[in-house]
Amino acid sequence: MSFEIPFIRPVFPSPELVASDYARIVESNWYTNFGPREREFSAALGTYMGDGYIAVTFANATLALMALCQAALGRGDGSKEVLVPSFTFAAGPAAVEWAGYVPRFIDVDTASLQPSIDEARAALDGGSDVAGILLGNTFGIGNAQIAEWEQLAEEYGVQLLIDSAAGFGSVYPGGRRVGTAGLAEVFSFHATKPFAIGEGGAVVTRDPALARSLAEFQNFGFSQGLGSAQLGLNGKLQELNAAIGLRQLATIDEAVQRRQAVVAAYRRGFEGLDIAFPRGIDESSVCFASIVLPDRGSRDAVLAALIEAGVEARAYYSPAVHTQPHFAAAPRQGGLRGTGAVVDSVLSLPVHQDMAQRDIDTVIAVVARTAPRS
Ligand SMILES: *Cc1c(COP(=O)(O)O)cnc(C)c1O
Repeated sequence: MSFEIPFIRPVFPSPELVASDYARIVESNWYTNFGPREREFSAALGTYMGDGYIAVTFANATLALMALCQAALGRGDGSKEVLVPSFTFAAGPAAVEWAGYVPRFIDVDTASLQPSIDEARAALDGGSDVAGILLGNTFGIGNAQIAEWEQLAEEYGVQLLIDSAAGFGSVYPGGRRVGTAGLAEVFSFHATKPFAIGEGGAVVTRDPALARSLAEFQNFGFSQGLGSAQLGLNGKLQELNAAIGLRQLATIDEAVQRRQAVVAAYRRGFEGLDIAFPRGIDESSVCFASIVLPDRGSRDAVLAALIEAGVEARAYYSPAVHTQPHFAAAPRQGGLRGTGAVVDSVLSLPVHQDMAQRDIDTVIAVVARTAPRS
């Protein structure tokens, strides 16, 4: 089904610019394997994050998450757990499993839509052998409690890894850049994310030994002169995608501002309605605009009306990961009641970098005539 207003409409550099990048790549006879564009792109990503930050690029964020779990925690033998929210995208829990750990699902805080720190503490006190936490910055929005999460990880002596896939360009409430917290943060540059290069991803860390291990993981586990020194795979970013990344990095801050302006317009348009925005969305890179309605009935009614009007809205992230067939038997902390409630009441609205005022008005009008008043 094609929609008049699609959920995602990425802005890529013009064909002319990409053609000139491609000409340089052909001229250099270097297409992948840490070529000049990839070197420049990873250095620029580190600089963007601030002093001392190292970025390691990947062919996509799923490989980056797998690499990070293995590099940070060591290869697991299936006996230890990693805490991970269920209200997230399945790639994170899957990466935990690929690295040899069991994902233990924790609940979401229904007010913030971020993972519940109380449930994480309960799991850490609960007696199972926990090696780490794979926190998710929900929808790429920086967690307002990030300093408390760092404290919790330190207190219990576990690693704090963060899946910030959709959040390149976001800042945590308080002004710290998303990408600078925990042991490392992971970004996706998939075509559907605010920072889009097609397929691509990166891990950001301040730990040079970790960065080296991540780079080796994505290059068959090869370590200088030794051949394979860890179980690795091929996860390298191609030159052409790195070149597109350099173009996108030059405009990311402006792109983020434009996306935030769409959220501000939705906020004004939804005044008087029983609709909540997740905390921190205004400081985020806004992959899409998620809102929370009072219950499933009102969410489904607004979603149906939007679809009917040609607007591609989604109930994102739904279904919760712990209810998906592959993860249905994984351990969980408590009943995950918050997750169930959020999955039933959340609705994600389209946000485009170059969203036409007419399209913004259409979304607002449909929501305003179908959502309950506060
Ligand atoms: C998009 C996304 C991923 C996967 O990223 P890819 O680059 O497509 O592999 C992982 N986690 C979250 C939270 C995401 O939103």
